[in-house]
Amino acid sequence: MGRAVVILDFDVRPNRKPLSHTDRQALLSAPVFGKVFTDHMITLRWDAERGWHDGRLEEFQSIALPPSASVFHYGQEIFEGMKAYRQQGGSIALFRPERNAARFNASARRLAMPEIPVETFVRAIELLVRQDRQWVPHGAGTSLYLRPFMIATEPTLGFTLPSRSYLFCVIACPASAYFSTRTGPPALTVWLSQEYARAASGGTGAAKAGGNYAAAFLAQREAVDRGCDQVVWLDAVEHTWVEEMGGMNLCFVQQSAADEPASLMTPALTGTLLPGVTRDSLLQLSGRLGLGRSEGRINVQQWRKQCEAGQITEVFACGTAAVIAPVGRVRGASDEWTIGDGRPGPVTMRLRDELLGIQYGRIPDDLGWTR
Ligand code: PMP
Repeated sequence: MGRAVVILDFDVRPNRKPLSHTDRQALLSAPVFGKVFTDHMITLRWDAERGWHDGRLEEFQSIALPPSASVFHYGQEIFEGMKAYRQQGGSIALFRPERNAARFNASARRLAMPEIPVETFVRAIELLVRQDRQWVPHGAGTSLYLRPFMIATEPTLGFTLPSRSYLFCVIACPASAYFSTRTGPPALTVWLSQEYARAASGGTGAAKAGGNYAAAFLAQREAVDRGCDQVVWLDAVEHTWVEEMGGMNLCFVQQSAADEPASLMTPALTGTLLPGVTRDSLLQLSGRLGLGRSEGRINVQQWRKQCEAGQITEVFACGTAAVIAPVGRVRGASDEWTIGDGRPGPVTMRLRDELLGIQYGRIPDDLGWTR
């Protein structure tokens, strides 16, 4: 599906009543994540006859759709999450946006939706950030969060074939530092979801599809009820192999002996977990920082035993939103243990500083990741 027409031009229709400078500054001083949006959005349509067409940058506004639109019934929806970072000199950078574009297209293929040319995707993001640049906050650890998404719009209840029309859209919202930059990230307590599974082989686990998140709320509520911050998803067959968290990948810092170098291990991309951009970036950075690195597998028992033996010294979750979130304690239905001394460890913090340094332009980006 999808024609390889590269759309580089969006019809720019600026919002004639953007928020006043004073009102915007008030919102930017303490943005509540995901509630306040910038003045503009990007829209681009696709149908079987015309391919991608009618690209616009326009005022942030409601989307009108008939109640029969396919997305409301069969959930054909995919999305991405990425950020624009205010650099030291005041300019703005995106971090590896082509990776998000590629993952968006991988999600589109799995959900039988049309792919969007990478150049068009990145151009849409850049256009919106440029237009709403005053919305990119300046504070330490703050950013502009970008949410590209695509929905099925064909007005039909028929479900033997995928929708024949789609809407691609990008919206943006200012984000404060996920954790206080003064106290650093607190260590999370995580809940092992041994009853529910997120993804099975052949399913949609590797796609960023809304339905995956809908299916996760129940377990997330269970985690909160058990006094935990986040769910750790396990494999759907044996309910023991560690996969990832609700919105972040997991990394284990292993050290077999005190005089051995530390090594970073993260569950391999088996098709049931999301290939995180942060995960990939940290695997590359750990090599540069002299750490060993591997993509492997670990089950719940091994996780506990290696913590007790001092062979797992740190565990952290990583993703665009929180960057790196240390994990201090693990809780399951019948088991509970602490990782290291339960506090953020040195490898976690070293990797976090390195990645944030590149994203905010404090460390030279010789990997060519920022744009
Ligand atoms: N896993 C899941 C399920 C996620 O939703 C996310 C957030 N996109 C991640 C992992 C981390 O991905 P990234 O580093 O690209 O943000």
